[in-house]
Amino acid sequence: MKILVCVAWPYSDGPLHLGHIYGAYLPADIFARYHRMVGNQVLMVSGSDEHGTPITFVAEREGVSPAEISERYHRINSQIFEKLGITFDNYSRTSSQNHKEVVRDFFMRLYNNGYIYEGEMISPYCPKCKRFLPDRYVEGTCPYCGYEHARGDQCDNCGRTLDPQDLINPRCRICGSTPEFKKTKHLFFSLSKFEEPLKEWISSKDYWRENVRKFSYNFISSGLKDRAITRDIDWGVEVPLPGYEGKRIYVWFEAVIGYLSSTIEYSKKIGKEDLWKDFWLDENARHYYFIGKDNIPFHTIIWPAMLMAHGELVLPFDVPANEYLRLEGGKFSKSAGYGIFMPQILEKFDPDMVRFYSALNLPEIHDSDFSWDDFYSKVNTELIDKFGNFVNRVLKFTKSKYGRIPPMYELDDDDYLAINKIRETGENMAKLIEKVELKKALKEWLSLVYFGNQYFDKSAPWDICKNDDKKCSTKLHISLMIVKSLAIYGYPYIPFTSQRIWKMLGNRDDISSYKWIDAISPLEEYHIQEPEILFKKLTFINFENWQKLDIRVGKIIEVKDHPNADRLYLLKVSLGDETRNLVAGLKAYYAPEELMGKFVLLLYNLEPAEIRGIISQGMLLAADDGKNVSLLTPTEKIPGKRVIIKDFQPKNSEIIKHKDFSKMRFEVVRVETTGVKPLLKGSKDYTVEENIDDDLIGKELVLFFEGNTPFILRTENGLILTDRIVDPGARIR
Ligand SMILES: [Zn+2]
Ligand SMILES: [Zn+2]
Repeated sequence: MKILVCVAWPYSDGPLHLGHIYGAYLPADIFARYHRMVGNQVLMVSGSDEHGTPITFVAEREGVSPAEISERYHRINSQIFEKLGITFDNYSRTSSQNHKEVVRDFFMRLYNNGYIYEGEMISPYCPKCKRFLPDRYVEGTCPYCGYEHARGDQCDNCGRTLDPQDLINPRCRICGSTPEFKKTKHLFFSLSKFEEPLKEWISSKDYWRENVRKFSYNFISSGLKDRAITRDIDWGVEVPLPGYEGKRIYVWFEAVIGYLSSTIEYSKKIGKEDLWKDFWLDENARHYYFIGKDNIPFHTIIWPAMLMAHGELVLPFDVPANEYLRLEGGKFSKSAGYGIFMPQILEKFDPDMVRFYSALNLPEIHDSDFSWDDFYSKVNTELIDKFGNFVNRVLKFTKSKYGRIPPMYELDDDDYLAINKIRETGENMAKLIEKVELKKALKEWLSLVYFGNQYFDKSAPWDICKNDDKKCSTKLHISLMIVKSLAIYGYPYIPFTSQRIWKMLGNRDDISSYKWIDAISPLEEYHIQEPEILFKKLTFINFENWQKLDIRVGKIIEVKDHPNADRLYLLKVSLGDETRNLVAGLKAYYAPEELMGKFVLLLYNLEPAEIRGIISQGMLLAADDGKNVSLLTPTEKIPGKRVIIKDFQPKNSEIIKHKDFSKMRFEVVRVETTGVKPLLKGSKDYTVEENIDDDLIGKELVLFFEGNTPFILRTENGLILTDRIVDPGARIR
């Protein structure tokens, strides 16, 4: 069977985040890898959507050209796909010459077929910016759901497509002015002519996901209007008609044609110019569109109508749109120190961990929630403890006992059961993946993992091997068959790990050259390679202690003696927009002129305390080794700046009592080596997973310990140092 896997074209106006991966890219890749493995002819295409107002908007904000922005994110997003193992056959871009040509041909065909006509429309025009405001440049309240930040083309809250005139209280997003509405000439696509054919077509799609079908029905039942397909903008594909030189083809019309242009580009690339016709002109070819739910109307209404207007090309077979991923109830972004953007996530985690957890949590029917807590817990228990451990135990035992894959002799009931379970799992997964129920299919795979553990434990080869070699050999062979089938069935989900297991089993070739059905055949007598641990267990740090602290940079602007105490100063410390009065016991260590103007660290949320009759609003942090005392001082000298650890963004902390602060663990360390895993000498040697510049050798930094994990105290663009040298290991008070 020929299967075209079409994946939503990401706007290249920013890096992809987890929501995109869940919505389209991972499901598409799982689906494509599976179909390649069962021997179907698969082509998976997508590309960067480089036109339209999202990109010009970012470019204007940054003061660079739209081409620069789209080039930047095309590159970044291509790298993400590669790292995550998203196997596009062709990942193109809408700025390519090929795409522009295909769009022009497509456009002219619709024009000649009588489905594109000239008309006038009323467009928002900003009198202050002196320009028309296409799509994103105008914002207002959605007339359907009341969402206040609906855009001129679509409401992100209720998903309806809009016209700018529909917006209540429209405003220019550049300057905030109220736009005027002016007449301007545009080209229109006769969408209304396809209302009936689309209704009929959608009603034949009883196998579509219910949310997709319902959404599409509702969309049509509110009536289809012809839509303008040109815009007053100079960034985009040119209109191939005279009189439209200053306008461009609207991005939604042009980007969806990318599925076709990317297929054509691929055909040219591999030197089979006509290959695309096998996929686009053959009615038996199945086209699957993997998209997020905000894209449903473009793929079940507008694009099919465009294809009908074209008259020759294959319509979508299925549009398995996903619901939304909710990110820790909206508070996702930095709660555990890791953002939602893929570049950072892939720097920190094995791509298969991300793929596994995401697949287990796909929002196929309902929205799903992502939390780092759950991520750590599922990866640790399911992927590492149950799966990784099982594979490792089987391979290790076999390696030490035989060094190769031992033969299978007479089978008992348990063995037959195991072979059946392998076959059944493959069949069940196949059925589910073909229906794009990828989450359920992964649960089937997990059931084989559980089964494998039980089988291996019950067989107890470590016992039977003492007196029954044939039985031992058989039990291990079947355990290895389970390992092998987990590698094959797991390949769409965790391809990197599957390939590693494949090599450990002694295979020399790539697992992708095997077939789904190979999972049930017995193994050949390869030598087993030295088994390696598949994953390192994750330790979850929730920054429970750090969250209680609010430490800020301050500048000492006044030093006076305490009227009632010999050893104390009264200090005024500026935090930028606020000044605090402190009582500090520094007289034995610092002269007033040494303190004046110094940048220091203030424990900002310490409960105020009366010291000898005067209220101290916080405390300066100092290192104390028993002999010497040194204030802590920031390299980034900006009053009010928060002190952070790693990229963890502190929230507003509540008041902390001194006795709770004194339980927190800080330590002064001297920098011995620099680079990515520096050696830091304190009361003992520490290393941290943080990069340190070479010029810090010999300097003293401060570590904060969350549990037993040390983190370097820093500000956004600087570090915290001791003001004077103290002994390494000194505590902070
Ligand atoms: Zn709305
Ligand atoms: Zn304006």
